[in-house]
Amino acid sequence: MHPYGAPSGAQRLVLAMDRDGPFCVWCSREFSDLVRPTREHVVPRVKGGPSIPENEVAACARCNRERGHASPVQWLDEVVARGRTPRPEVLEASLRRLADHIERHGGLRRIRGYLATELRKLDKR
Ligand SMILES: [Zn+2]
Repeated sequence: MHPYGAPSGAQRLVLAMDRDGPFCVWCSREFSDLVRPTREHVVPRVKGGPSIPENEVAACARCNRERGHASPVQWLDEVVARGRTPRPEVLEASLRRLADHIERHGGLRRIRGYLATELRKLDKR
């Protein structure tokens, strides 16, 4: 898919939609001209979350913008409170892929604690 280097942001968005389906992770709306897909960093960039497929899912522009820097599980609960129907299984799969990635390749020390906390919060939901 990307013979000449790492996939671009646009390619990673397509990858996320191929993997998870064409629906927003936070509200389950299907993407269209009116519901524009964006790349959503599961661990936010400001918290050290990398721009790699393991840390990215597709979210609509509205949900992505409104989330700000909320943690993934905090925002999951918030969208439910707002009456939206999120896709927790997609979020959980992404967090586990990222944890596996770190397990296999090391690095990303800054987000390990954050990631472990989010996975614990998911288990308690
Ligand atoms: Zn949405």
